[in-house]
Amino acid sequence: MGVLIKTVLTMYDTLSSRSLDLMREKSLREQAEKNLEVSEERWKFVLESSGESIWDWDISNANYVELAFPTMKLFEDTEAKYGNDIHPADIETMKIDFSSHIAGETDFYINKHRRIRSDGSWSWVLSRGKVVSRNAEGTPTRMVGMHSDITERELASLIYHNSSQGMFVCDADNKIISINPAFTTITGYTIHDVASNPPKLLSSGRHGREFYKEMWATIEQEGQWQGEIWNKRKNGEEFAERLIINRVDGDDGSVDHYIALFLDITDQKIADEQIFRNAYYDQLTGLPNRALFSDRFNQAIARSRRTNHQLAICFIDLDNFKPINDTYGHEVGDRVLVETAHRLKKSLREEDTVSRLGGDEFVLLLSEIISLADAESRVERIAHELTQPFIIDGDSHLITSSIGMTIYPDDNADIDLLLRHADQAMYSAKMEGKNRYRLFNPLHHKESVSRQEQLERLREAIVRNELQLYYQPKVNMATGELYGVEGLIRWNHPEKGLIPPLQFLPLVDGTEQENQIGEWVINEALQQMVLWQQEGIELEVSVNISAHHLQSDKFLTTLESALSKHPTVSSNQLQLEILESTTLSNLDRITSIITSCKQVLGIEVALDDFGTGYSSLTHLRYLPARILKIDQSFVRDILDDSDDYSIIDGVIGLANSFNREVIAEGVESTAHGELLLIMGCEYAQGYGIAKPMPADEFSKWHSSYQPNQQWLGYANSELSLNEKSKKILQLTMERWYQLFITNLKTDHADLHHWPILDKRKCHCGFWVERIKQEGRQSRKFLSSLDATHLEMHTLANQLYELYTAGEIEAARNGIDALQKIFEKVNSSLS
Ligand code: C2E
Ligand code: MG
Ligand code: MG
Repeated sequence: MGVLIKTVLTMYDTLSSRSLDLMREKSLREQAEKNLEVSEERWKFVLESSGESIWDWDISNANYVELAFPTMKLFEDTEAKYGNDIHPADIETMKIDFSSHIAGETDFYINKHRRIRSDGSWSWVLSRGKVVSRNAEGTPTRMVGMHSDITERELASLIYHNSSQGMFVCDADNKIISINPAFTTITGYTIHDVASNPPKLLSSGRHGREFYKEMWATIEQEGQWQGEIWNKRKNGEEFAERLIINRVDGDDGSVDHYIALFLDITDQKIADEQIFRNAYYDQLTGLPNRALFSDRFNQAIARSRRTNHQLAICFIDLDNFKPINDTYGHEVGDRVLVETAHRLKKSLREEDTVSRLGGDEFVLLLSEIISLADAESRVERIAHELTQPFIIDGDSHLITSSIGMTIYPDDNADIDLLLRHADQAMYSAKMEGKNRYRLFNPLHHKESVSRQEQLERLREAIVRNELQLYYQPKVNMATGELYGVEGLIRWNHPEKGLIPPLQFLPLVDGTEQENQIGEWVINEALQQMVLWQQEGIELEVSVNISAHHLQSDKFLTTLESALSKHPTVSSNQLQLEILESTTLSNLDRITSIITSCKQVLGIEVALDDFGTGYSSLTHLRYLPARILKIDQSFVRDILDDSDDYSIIDGVIGLANSFNREVIAEGVESTAHGELLLIMGCEYAQGYGIAKPMPADEFSKWHSSYQPNQQWLGYANSELSLNEKSKKILQLTMERWYQLFITNLKTDHADLHHWPILDKRKCHCGFWVERIKQEGRQSRKFLSSLDATHLEMHTLANQLYELYTAGEIEAARNGIDALQKIFEKVNSSLS
């Protein structure tokens, strides 16, 4: 249409003045016959080529003649001044235009009006004319002019001005010469801003040079380009448009104009992007979701085939996310997840993908793996990243992760199966104690069963009576009294043998089945208490209850009904142990349950594994649990490590000030017990007393139980501070010496960890300093203590060097000398 309009417009301009001349010529030189013919031919030619009509109005005789080109059939000859065919709304202006021209006020009569066509449709007509003769009084007697059908042009103009599409026209040099109102609405630019500028003015910078080069090449070759493009509004905001550019050529084939038309599709783009994001990305973390992960995996497979590299699929599950989420709320939980996502992304290479599957589960796709060791070291680095504290609102949260990995194409499966395998490996990592990664082994695949199957199997175990409680004694070391036992669950698996609790309890973590097992444990313990009563054994029995079970709605009522089924058992002989580390989502709720246990049922509660939780002090302060069980990880190294000593010392001090009882678990030796006694902790449980055992075995053990005589020796022995320090130095040094000698006598493969060899960092060194500070000994004693301690370490270091250099015999030859020094210090302390 554009070309047509332009053609019409240009022709109109040239023709309108020329045809008037021709008419005058015709009327003035009618006698020139020869010329007439030529002239008429021209006339015909002009009309034919222009599609216009010419009118001649004899005003005095009221005679109006209109000559239209036959095919146009636009106007019919009429005598009427203003024909019936004119749109009534336009008649008024037409009259005005006529009158003012006839009155001599205008050089030309020009009017635009609508006329009805013979088919009933309206056309726009541009009418131009001029008075060509007047009588002696100056009254016009004749007017000639022409009519042009400008319907198309009018429509085009209408569209141009009212369209919601932006339009602009550039000249041959690609400078803007015209814009429509929508252009201004969309871009914010007015014609003053853009006139004579290239459209580049709108460029957002999002598209590179290549893009524009191609665009212009297409316009050159095909006369048109269309596509989507990001531009910039006057206010700097970017917007997306669907753009069509047309090249308009002149008659000679060279570029005349460019016409561009565009639609603002930013909203649609944003909506599309949102739909795309929702379909392929996790909303919280912005990471790719499962669908996009699969997609990336397929690309990675194709790439790995080309490059002969392997791929690793890693399944990551955060170990202690749930308690954070429960304790601090979802918002904090969400921020932990977002930060996790961020760290994972940061530790990956560009060709890798991390995706969130939901909850605290993430998967990684590591591509271009060179070797298993390569994959492992990368996974280790990633796991390490996650162990760094998460600081949120000033609180520091610690997270570890369990990771399962499988390697493609060793594990040659589709993505679903690979994910399942990685998941299984992750699950093994969890079962083996969390905070580690495990590799899926395709060769052992047949043996491993899914979590669902294992859960099903465990459900059967309850029905088939395969669960069993073992009992581990709890004693008062100072009095020797055996006052209680802890019930510890085992699974007697018909094929796999005895399965320890940490290998199957995580399976039911947070499920209804966990509660069922808990109920089973309570009933089993009560039943056993009844049986022991019959044998004359009266003991406090503690059972472990998960935080999830404790907080369940039915907990108190089922506990109460279990007690009422065993009326001979007095409820204050039952004790509940709840894990401090998984504690405790809703402190208020837990507090009220513990209070009810105590006040309504008379049952005491112990905080198990105390010191491993996130906020032990908060728990100590708020939870009305009477007993703190010091975690065995601190107890185990109490003789070797002064830090663990200090932690336990602190816990005992706190327990005293908050009026709580402490019991140490994991007491593995007499020396452990001695040290604990000196520190003020009398209650103990551990292999140093007895391992957990089945009920019948316990009865036998009970009847032959002998208190530890060395421990009894501490009863009522009021040691002075200085005596205590000397005793502790003896204990820690003895431990140090034994460990060192044991290692020297052991072959490399079976080595324990070496005791701390640095004399300033070893636990005995800590006590040497303590004794010096206490200042109660003579100077002579102190300096000889210092010297012999130093001597012991110096020699030990030499022997260690020999041993690690492979001169094991030479090292062992030094044992006698070391023993002499040790005995010298030791005897000086007694
Ligand atoms: P826990 O309640 O802290 O139990 C003490 C664990 O330490 C027991 O492991 C026990 O065998 C072990 N242990 C005791 N003395 C020593 C020692 O001197 N040295 C060493 N190295 N270990 C010692 P077990 O029986 O494998 O139980 C592990 C954990 O499983 C328990 O830790 C408890 O948290 C959980 N658990 C056990 N039975 C149940 C149960 O019936 N219900 C629930 N919910 N959890 C249970
Ligand atoms: Mg326990
Ligand atoms: Mg414990």
